[in-house]
Parts: sequence; C-alpha cells; structure tokens
Amino acid sequence: MLIRVWEFICAMLCYLVVNGLTAQAKFPPGMILTGGRRSVSLRRELARIVPKSMFTLQQFETLLPLACAWASEQELAILRTGVPLTEAEMADARRVGVARPERVRLLGVPEIPMPEHPTLAFAAKASSLITPFTVGLTLQYGIFIHASCWSQRRLVAHELAHTMQYERLGGFEPFLRQYLGECLSIGYPEAPMEQEAIRIEGEVCG
Ligand SMILES: [Zn+2]
Repeated sequence: MLIRVWEFICAMLCYLVVNGLTAQAKFPPGMILTGGRRSVSLRRELARIVPKSMFTLQQFETLLPLACAWASEQELAILRTGVPLTEAEMADARRVGVARPERVRLLGVPEIPMPEHPTLAFAAKASSLITPFTVGLTLQYGIFIHASCWSQRRLVAHELAHTMQYERLGGFEPFLRQYLGECLSIGYPEAPMEQEAIRIEGEVCG
C-alpha cells in the first residue's frame, strides 16, 4: 500500500513537472523532434525550456534506443502469449485502418509493466505513458490491456489506433520518436498523436 501511495505521489509530481513544462512549450502539432528545416527554431525553443525540462535533446536521443529496445522486447512477449483479436475486434481494427490486424495480440495483465531501467521508468512516468492508472499500452502489434478493462471495445479500438500509427510511421523508432517527443513536450493526452487515437476511438465506437 505504501508503495502504491509513493507511486501515486511520483506520478502526480511527474504530471505537475510535465505540465509545468507544457506551459513553456508551444509547439505546433507534428513539429516535435522531427529534425529537418524546422529543427533550428525547435532547437531554439528547446534551449529556452531545457533548464525547466527533464530531458535535453541529447538525453532524449540517448533515451530513444532504450525505449525502442524495451518496447520491442515487450511486443515479443505479448506476441508469444497474447490472444488474437476476436472477429468484432478485427472488424474494428479494419475500420481504424490497421493494415495487418491478424498480427495483433492482446495480453491481459494485472498491471501495465514498467521498464526496469530507471531513466526509462522516469520518462514513462513523466510523460504519463505508464502510471498506476494506465489501462492500455500498445507496442506495435502487442497490446497490454489491464485485466479490469479486458474486452472493453473503446479501449481496444483506441489501442488499435496506436497500432495503425506504428504502421503508418514505420515501426518503433519513428513512432516512439514522435509520440514520446510529443508527450514529453506537449504533454499527455494533449499530444496530437494521442488526440488522433481518441478521435478514431470515438469514430469507430460512436
Ligand atoms: Zn493512447
């Protein structure tokens, strides 16, 4: 119980820090950490907020491969032990725009696993991607579903929207670069990719 309370306090502190950061960062959608011509103004903007942020651009680049390795490892574990989509979920996956719904596996868990690496765990909490309240997490074709929410249509449709985003962007590195970047700078759930998943979930489930 004490650990739960501590986790809750950490999550709330991270939330406050991230939102404090969010108030400083006014990035247009899709502009975060994508490099290219816009990166000059982005770097300037990041330099302005770095003293208040948890991660510099360099630290983010160090974090990203760790996040990709963890995500890929988790996907493999889910693909080994998870269950395929039901017919109804398969139909939803097609509506969402998932190209290969037959590859998706769902795994019910009592708690969404947290990375063991301390920096990665901090980033996961700070970006609100994994907190004690997280009920679903999509790692490309592997989807963790909290046991208390098993077979909730809206949740599965939402997570399938993230699978579609993985497919659209082309795998772990481009997805996590964009999604983690948005969550750490804009905040969760205001991040454009998260907003897209929320919109699609609504369109599919009404
Ligand atoms: Zn989401």
